[in-house]
Amino acid sequence: MGGSAAAAACTAGSFVPLTAQTSAYFGAPSVVQVGFRRQQMGDMEVIALNDGVVRRPLAAEFVRNTPLNEVQTLLCSQNLPTEYVDIPFMAFLIVMGNRRVLLDSGFADNGGPTTGRLMGNLNAAGFKAGDIDTVVLKHYHGDHINGVRKKAGHMVFPRAKIMVPMVEHAFWMDDAHMAAVPDAMKGAFMNVCRVFGGMGAEQLVQFVPGSDIISGVTGIKAMAAFGHTPGHTLVVAQSYRHKFACVADLTNVPALFARNPDMAVQFDMDAEAAREARLKVFNMLVDAKMMAGGFHFPFPAFGRIEKIGNGFDFKPVA
Ligand SMILES: [Zn+2]
Repeated sequence: MGGSAAAAACTAGSFVPLTAQTSAYFGAPSVVQVGFRRQQMGDMEVIALNDGVVRRPLAAEFVRNTPLNEVQTLLCSQNLPTEYVDIPFMAFLIVMGNRRVLLDSGFADNGGPTTGRLMGNLNAAGFKAGDIDTVVLKHYHGDHINGVRKKAGHMVFPRAKIMVPMVEHAFWMDDAHMAAVPDAMKGAFMNVCRVFGGMGAEQLVQFVPGSDIISGVTGIKAMAAFGHTPGHTLVVAQSYRHKFACVADLTNVPALFARNPDMAVQFDMDAEAAREARLKVFNMLVDAKMMAGGFHFPFPAFGRIEKIGNGFDFKPVA
């Protein structure tokens, strides 16, 4: 796949901000003003970096296996709006010794006006684009990978190796898969092509679940959580007894899909596998009392997962 026709048709990916013409408009979401949060854990520092937020009208298809009124009741019980959901985007920078590893990349200039804040927040936290030595992309939806490459084509993090799950890469780079999906999904494939096209093996490094991204007593390991996408992968960063799990898109809205892990968001490509991964990982986080962060968790996006009823609650750090 590739070529200029495909490149010209590329969009910002499957997770595009909504257009106001065809849907009700509920106002602009508020973007956090101080968009980073540092957390020292042993010899590593974990820094949450906000890339912005998108507001989506809450339509019936958003939670595809649950009646809309039940979804609204769950939101209402948590004093949240019931006509729309705000979905934040949060990358994490892991600082270990002389390593600077960025987990996910946000939108850069490929998204709407309330996105693309990552670089400003990275700078505000004291880092430059050239400081990043590794970008780990845990799955290939546009909100996670677009920030690797600007709209004009150049790489945002000029020194960085791009590390990706082998299963995810194989799926999205396969022409047969692109041919088989509905037209509405083809843009996401073309976007993968836009981001990764022309990257050589010296720049693009593939890993498998269980492998070390950085090895050592202070290191980062990959963990499979397939379902949201075919190769959706988590990472656990560890320094001695301190562990931080970045759970990626196990939930797109914790107030819904953590509270009721049986609910399936419309973006889960294999809803049953995603549900199993959600339950398994959240239970592990509770049992291990592990610090967790999520790409779509509300700012500061760090915290603990606790059991509540038949589901889980995200408790951000104070
Ligand atoms: Zn996402």
